[in-house]
Amino acid sequence: MPLGILSGPPAFRDRLYVGRPNVGDRTAFLSRINDMLDRGWLTNDGPFVQELERRVAAYVGVRHCVAMCNATVALEIAIRALELSGEVIIPSYTFIATAHSLQWQQITPVFADIDADTHCIDPGVIEQMITPRTTGIIGVHIWGQACDVDALAEIASRRKLRLMFDAAHAFGCTHKGRMIGNNGDAEVFSFHATKFFNTLEGGAVTTNNDELAAKMRLMRNFGFSGYDNVVYVGTNGKMNEAAAAMGLTNLEAVDQFVEINRRNWDFYRAGLAGIHGLSLFSYPERDRNNFQYVVVAVDADTAGLTRDELVSVLWAENVIARKYFWPGCHRMEPYKSLYPHAGLLTPVTEKVAQRVMLLPTGASIDATTIDIICEKLRVAVSRAADVRAMTRQRID
Ligand SMILES: *Cc1c(COP(=O)(O)O)cnc(C)c1O
Repeated sequence: MPLGILSGPPAFRDRLYVGRPNVGDRTAFLSRINDMLDRGWLTNDGPFVQELERRVAAYVGVRHCVAMCNATVALEIAIRALELSGEVIIPSYTFIATAHSLQWQQITPVFADIDADTHCIDPGVIEQMITPRTTGIIGVHIWGQACDVDALAEIASRRKLRLMFDAAHAFGCTHKGRMIGNNGDAEVFSFHATKFFNTLEGGAVTTNNDELAAKMRLMRNFGFSGYDNVVYVGTNGKMNEAAAAMGLTNLEAVDQFVEINRRNWDFYRAGLAGIHGLSLFSYPERDRNNFQYVVVAVDADTAGLTRDELVSVLWAENVIARKYFWPGCHRMEPYKSLYPHAGLLTPVTEKVAQRVMLLPTGASIDATTIDIICEKLRVAVSRAADVRAMTRQRID
């Protein structure tokens, strides 16, 4: 028996991760790092950061891109620049940073449920969550597909709320043919190493609002408007030059990364076809997606194995599948203690969070690897009863 618990192809020798970094041309990156060292300008709105901001803004087709040290700080800064306070409605099915960026500044995240098909915030439940303290809505474009931007915009404008988006997944994606990054008051991208386009660590806010962009630029640099003049409470949200050098290098390869992801996704679609109880989340053809997430929903009744059991099978085979975003923000601290009943209002989140697993993709994964991963899943499901007994044993 190999390391894993399945017969058939042996376990992978090296671990396969979800979110392994995509890296563009190494020589180009190193040459930029040399330029940076020659210049001795390592951070503080350096030439690479400025160039990256110009290029990202052009790519997204937006007036302003404000680069930041990461998306979490970018969310915090956008939230503060928009003067959100009191309560802000967000989906419970998202990465914890969406909630924390509010809670960190004493704003209450109010968890709304999601749509079962898109996994994005359900606009139909928002109205009932608005209170006199509500000041805004943050939509999240889960898996890079736009949430229902139009419905959210309608509610926000009628109820006089601010609207922004956590677009951490959605770089290079469109909504109704227009690049994401142009919606609401502002949108926030993550360029973290695990995202398909990375600047090592990094993020950006994009907006078409000149005043807001200017304010965020000051806020990311402690609120300094000149050498000796501070005009806002600010923080240190600056992107450094090495990060921007990585960003410029990877931006040159971004379309290639999407192509690889798309190709991988097609291989998964073929490989997973006909495995009982597994369904691959598919992206609407009408829009462009970056295909950075291979999302599989497990129907335990049909598959004979739960999502958690399948994930342990894969881990034993060195395929590090992930349970994003389990168990949902409302079930993590401090929200779990603060709002112990939030789960009653988020039944779809509960269900989706229990069923979904993400499989490895990106430039380091090829067709053969995907075939083997799918074969492992096929074997596991076809021998569900044995596998269940063996995973129990391993856990005991
Ligand atoms: C990755 C991610 C973030 C945080 O991004 P960082 O750049 O790591 O701070 C925020 N929201 C969502 C939905 C994410 O997936």
